[in-house]
Amino acid sequence: MPTASASESSSNQPESSNASGSIDHVLVEDRLFHPSAEFTAKAVISTEEQYEKLATAARENPDEFWRAEALEHLHWFEPFDTVCDWQPPHAKWFVGGKTNASYNCVDAHVAAGRGDRTAIIWEGEPVEDGKPRDQRTLTFAELQTEVAKCAEGLTQLGIGVGDVVSIYMPMTPELAIAMLACARIGAVHSVIFAGFSAASIAERNNDASAKLMITSDGLYRRGKILPLKETVNEALENSSTVEHCLVLRRTGEEVPMQEGRDVWWHDVVDSQPGEMAAKPLDSETPLFILYTSGSTGKPKGILHTTAGYNLWAKRTFQWVFDHREDDVYWCTADCGWITGHSYIVYGPLSAGATCLMYEGAPNFPAEDRFWDIVERHKVNILYTAPTAVRAFIKWGDEHVDKHDLSSLRLLGSVGEGINPEAWMWYHKKIGAEKCPIVDTWWQTETGGIMMSPLPGITPTKPGSCTRPLPGVVPSIVDELGNSVDSEHGGKLCISQPWPGMLRGIYGDEERFVEQYWSDVPNKYLTGDNARCDTDGYYWIMGRIDDVINVSGHRLSTIEVESALVSHPDVCEAAVVGRPDDCKGQAIAAFVTSNDRGHDDEFRKELKLHVRKEIGALAQPDDIRFTAALPKTRSGKIMRRLLRDVAAGRELVGDTSTLEDLSSLAKLQEED
Ligand code: ATP
Ligand code: MG
Repeated sequence: MPTASASESSSNQPESSNASGSIDHVLVEDRLFHPSAEFTAKAVISTEEQYEKLATAARENPDEFWRAEALEHLHWFEPFDTVCDWQPPHAKWFVGGKTNASYNCVDAHVAAGRGDRTAIIWEGEPVEDGKPRDQRTLTFAELQTEVAKCAEGLTQLGIGVGDVVSIYMPMTPELAIAMLACARIGAVHSVIFAGFSAASIAERNNDASAKLMITSDGLYRRGKILPLKETVNEALENSSTVEHCLVLRRTGEEVPMQEGRDVWWHDVVDSQPGEMAAKPLDSETPLFILYTSGSTGKPKGILHTTAGYNLWAKRTFQWVFDHREDDVYWCTADCGWITGHSYIVYGPLSAGATCLMYEGAPNFPAEDRFWDIVERHKVNILYTAPTAVRAFIKWGDEHVDKHDLSSLRLLGSVGEGINPEAWMWYHKKIGAEKCPIVDTWWQTETGGIMMSPLPGITPTKPGSCTRPLPGVVPSIVDELGNSVDSEHGGKLCISQPWPGMLRGIYGDEERFVEQYWSDVPNKYLTGDNARCDTDGYYWIMGRIDDVINVSGHRLSTIEVESALVSHPDVCEAAVVGRPDDCKGQAIAAFVTSNDRGHDDEFRKELKLHVRKEIGALAQPDDIRFTAALPKTRSGKIMRRLLRDVAAGRELVGDTSTLEDLSSLAKLQEED
């Protein structure tokens, strides 16, 4: 590894795991990056004392802390009387109060005289290379009118409090407007990423008993039109609860509309007066259902409610992204994922931020698309995913070099662990070594960021999500549920309720209890492994299901992958265990590389490289080169399917969330 130092010489073995099954850790990262004095001076949280004070208050007097936070940061139509009613595993927050997330995101700013500030800068995909770019901006006042119109339209279609609305739309402002319109009237949105198949849509519609679908005629993707409405029509044949389908015109293509069921947005929404006020709603009114990425299995319909989620999204946004008055903030996620919910819509808009929203792909019309957008819109804060960073590295620095990125002052990462070498590239090439990187660890279930550097004060270590945010009390436990010496890895749990926590899996109380609350009494089980180093920094070691057990040593996938990725010719790596008679499990690595030939010599070199970096025990037994790794539609490596490939098994389990089946089929063929 060019700059990270390995803890042991190649002949040494990592420390042995203990009987209760903690995780060995073999990768040592000792680079440390401090925020600049200039950044710290202007930061929202600028001293360690400030953080300590918040964290201590939230841990020791959570009621008092969250009462003050909620009163200051949300609008209350009626005050709450109980801060947190915690009957494990069920929590209710701000009981008795009435608020509205749509009000907090939109109306609150208009009421405060900030209605003419820009809420959304929308950048569409260019229809054709060379044609004028499709762009729009919406002020908070304009957004208020649009959201009210949509809420009026939804009401006319018979939607009210508690009704579920499935949203399957391109990344246009109307997607955010539809979400906020649901929130305005107490309807529950269920956003389905607009790349899913008809069967996946129908499954989600049925699981949530959706009453309405909102979609568009189509969407633009890399210059092509995807016929969304056609897919929806197919889904609706098997969605018996859906009564109406509201269709936005985006591409202008002819689409089949079913009389009585389907209506146009421009007929039902655009003609409305746009005056409907936000409805005062009980704090615990369901706000949305969102199905997880499906990295580990069949997606779960995670339920979030109004007040607690809204507060968590807003405060975590302000803390982590160090939001300042005139910032242009860009989160590159899709609203089909939790990152889009919390950090394109609810967090930034509640905080009054100017949010850039982008419809298209990162490599259309060319691989410099993101940097072109950053330059033209003078983006200050960029929040993206490791899968994107790895793609940028692969595409080459020349695409970045063409643009002036000097407006950037803060970078974020989410979705997967970021390999230290990818972190270093992000830091140097995009951040010009001056932008702090916030590696944010969280989940659909947690509603918002749980662990992250606070950019003004936390020195960062590549690959670590550093420390918990105020109100997050992590603990690391072994197989038996006992707290472990956290320097060894173990299962990551959260031991105190927090406002943004999930309220359930929609319609499946049993799975909710079994999945998150059964292993360790009264603690939320995250499903990830982690360790905490002597500086109190957390390192996510991958998913519990992905641990590899080699001769009794339990190894984390990300560490072996990071060692592989640190080789200059490796772009991406995924590592899984496969059955081995002798060692229990052998290590199988799947690697994508640049131009290097895929021969035995390179294989041998990579094995030795890993051995040198992190030790003999972690040396992969098999190395397979592949053009692409199987990923979820949100861009995460799907190791569970690679386990089947490595073992030469038939694929078992749900493949509906797989981005591209062909990459997997190819791997199987090569077997
Ligand atoms: P499913 O639960 O259906 O398997 P998923 O876990 O991929 O899908 P999400 O809620 O989108 O669904 O992802 C959360 C998970 O992503 C975390 O549990 C963790 O494994 C991973 N993750 C997210 N951010 C980070 C990060 N900064 N570092 C390491 N891992 C991360
Ligand atoms: Mg998960």
